[in-house]
Amino acid sequence: SPLNEASLSSLAATLPVPTYDRSALTPGIVHIGLGNFHRGHQAWYLHRLMEQGKAHDWAIVGAGVRSNDAAMRDRLLAQDCLTTLIELRPDGTSAEICGSMIDFLPVEEGNGALIAQMAERSIRIVSLTVTEGGYFQDAATGSFTPEHADIQHDVAYPDAPCTAFGAIVAALKLRRASGAGPFTVQSCDNLRGNGTITKAAVVGLAQLTDSDLANWIEEHVSFPNAMVDCIVPATGPQELALARVLGVADAAPVTHESFRQWVIEDDFCAGRPDWDLVGATFTNHVHDYEAMKIRILNAGHQVLANAGELLNVGTISDCMADPLISAFFARVQSEEIVPHVADVPEMTAPDYLTLITGRFSNGAIRDTVRRVAYDGSSRHSGFILPIVRDALEAGTPVSGLALCEALWCFMCLGTREDGSSIEANDPIWDLLQRTAAAAKDDPQAWLGLSQIYGDLGANERFANAFASWLSHLHDKGPSHTLAHYVQS
Ligand code: NAD
Repeated sequence: SPLNEASLSSLAATLPVPTYDRSALTPGIVHIGLGNFHRGHQAWYLHRLMEQGKAHDWAIVGAGVRSNDAAMRDRLLAQDCLTTLIELRPDGTSAEICGSMIDFLPVEEGNGALIAQMAERSIRIVSLTVTEGGYFQDAATGSFTPEHADIQHDVAYPDAPCTAFGAIVAALKLRRASGAGPFTVQSCDNLRGNGTITKAAVVGLAQLTDSDLANWIEEHVSFPNAMVDCIVPATGPQELALARVLGVADAAPVTHESFRQWVIEDDFCAGRPDWDLVGATFTNHVHDYEAMKIRILNAGHQVLANAGELLNVGTISDCMADPLISAFFARVQSEEIVPHVADVPEMTAPDYLTLITGRFSNGAIRDTVRRVAYDGSSRHSGFILPIVRDALEAGTPVSGLALCEALWCFMCLGTREDGSSIEANDPIWDLLQRTAAAAKDDPQAWLGLSQIYGDLGANERFANAFASWLSHLHDKGPSHTLAHYVQS
């Protein structure tokens, strides 16, 4: 059947559908960046609460600040903002319909509708998944980059901004004037200290136009840090077909693994849903959870994805099934990543690696190497390079991490070991390709990408290890190089 409010009662014969009255829900959250992850994670937690009869005044209004979000809006509005969530376990598949989202704002230049909605008193949380690269951060230092053209645009046109942060600042300005008060800005992106980084962007931008407002935001708006976790692949023809097999004509279904985790600082200036009643953890010690997850899972993804792309292995679970790539993964993790991860109360770092190894090996999840390798310029700098810095400082090995960087550089040449081409997969792909070509004879050229590596290229131990792996890759190719590392 088609997916919409009217068909829910007939769909209920085949799968769980919302049992609460969606027409009685009222908005409390505006979410910007409505890709797949939000619908598989935050929206699901809220849906679970709504199923318990709670949080009916916290429904989600979707939004996007990029023109490509308009297509998602069309698809979701046509199905009354319902999403089929398909859980993929090694032993089977199940699905449910998630109903916690009730509207999707127009995606438009100037973001007028978004600003007006966020200015409404009923909105108490503005949450974001705008990707790791979406925070206007200097990759090497992590600081806010006011010189970015989009930020400069928003400084020139504060009432018609093009960024999420410009829209948030404009809405907060209206709320301060109207007495509606602040809302919480909640990042759900994979960044260590995502709340702190979000605050730097919002306050940093406000400071450029209205320092009074910036001070008010600094004092009143909360930006909780959080660790978010659930592997949510991109939706392609196979996922659409899977929804049809399950009996739902969903134009934008979401597949996900069964594991979910959300560890959040309990800092919400205008209240929050009781997400802890449905499995989220509120704590003032998010930092170690974030570090554990970002280093072992997200850095681990980068370890796999560049090698997988070069050897033409399609998905993360296929990488784990490949003896060479999985041996590479196991060795880099145990020798060079896990030693730089502190335990958390529930789990040691080695146990967390075992958990991640199992999750990555789940063959039911078709998480493509291409999705995971996308935007390496943000992901290597955010996930791998902080570990390199810690290792250099501690005097521990960096050989495997240097090989990860060499594999990424080699991948950016755009050709796999079998001669097939790798399509552009980074916002700065052209620069990466040119630099990777120059690095063949001058490896330092790659580490000279200072917006990514900062001053790491000046560290002799790291630079030598990188240069030696890159020349091995050029001479002998990826398989030989990986085998050499694994056996050495
Ligand atoms: P997606 O490609 O489905 O959606 C990305 C969304 O971000 C889109 O709405 C896009 O328009 C928007 N966006 C991209 N760049 C932007 C920018 N510069 N400014 C504003 N909006 C921008 O991706 P997804 O799977 O939903 O993942 C999004 C983010 O969620 C990830 O980058 C990550 O930080 C976090 N996350 C994802 C997963 C996962 O498994 N998919 C797991 C944990 C965390």
